[in-house]
Amino acid sequence: MSKVKYYYDPDTLSYRKIEPEKSKRYRNITFFILGACLFGFLGLILLLNTNLVNTPRELSLSREVKNYELQYELLNKKMEQIEEVLGNIEERDNNIYRLYFEANPIPDEQRKAGFGGINRYKSLEGFNNSEMIVSTTKRLDIIKKQMAIQSKSLDEITKLAEEKEKLLMSIPAIQPINNEDLTRMASGYGWRSDPFTKARKMHYGMDFTAPKGTPIYAAGDGKITRADNNSSGYGKHIRIEHGYGYLSLYAHLSEYNVKPGQKVKRGDLIGFVGSTGRSEAPHLHYEVWKENDRINPINFYYGSLSPEEFENMLKFANQENQSLD
Ligand SMILES: [Zn+2]
Repeated sequence: MSKVKYYYDPDTLSYRKIEPEKSKRYRNITFFILGACLFGFLGLILLLNTNLVNTPRELSLSREVKNYELQYELLNKKMEQIEEVLGNIEERDNNIYRLYFEANPIPDEQRKAGFGGINRYKSLEGFNNSEMIVSTTKRLDIIKKQMAIQSKSLDEITKLAEEKEKLLMSIPAIQPINNEDLTRMASGYGWRSDPFTKARKMHYGMDFTAPKGTPIYAAGDGKITRADNNSSGYGKHIRIEHGYGYLSLYAHLSEYNVKPGQKVKRGDLIGFVGSTGRSEAPHLHYEVWKENDRINPINFYYGSLSPEEFENMLKFANQENQSLD
């Protein structure tokens, strides 16, 4: 019940009742309701903003976010495994493959370098989970780069392997005469007595004694640079340039089976044993040159001889006998 209000009337010297106007009353009531609604509404908004109460949509969204976080965690675990495998491949790459082919190892800092310069993760920033998303993306980017570097390294090694194979095929690495055709290995590389003067003289090759007409084979892949009788002492002789600084020379031949400029493969028949030039008896005088120096051919027969055969040849080659020149 609203209170009855009075006022003092000096004319009648009495208190008189204040009669509120009907319209004013209604206005007050309207104001009150509007006010109540407004406060109620503001209160609701405040309440929703404080997260004390969630709408069903918010609940489902937050569950979804939790699920994403979990998935990210799983992805990170998988990435950890990938990083481990990749690290293992890189280690093998550096310590086996690159080492074997004499390529410099790729330093870790280079393999695992991130990306400098402008911030490429800017678009991922400014959210609640930004840190997680940025770190995962960064990790993935580094893995991507590691893979690219690894792939490039393997390309390089493939090329080196092909080169190495070519090099191995080019080195004069087989004995130029079949073992069964040999009468004996007459003389090796070193100081020997000269068959003509009997003086001690450096013998720069190996002499393989074999009957006239015995086939002579190319000791490695290469190109015939000479097949002529124009070099004093060697008689009819053949020179094969193998590349990589190697050259092999076959002297005192009876016949050629190749022409200058011709390309040959290891094991190709190039000529026949004879005794032309400064030679005492039919034999092949064989030399190996590396960068214009004549070196001991015996160091190269790793491909074609059994250990016993090699041992045997070593014994003969080191004998202080007379060369056939
Ligand atoms: Zn000789």
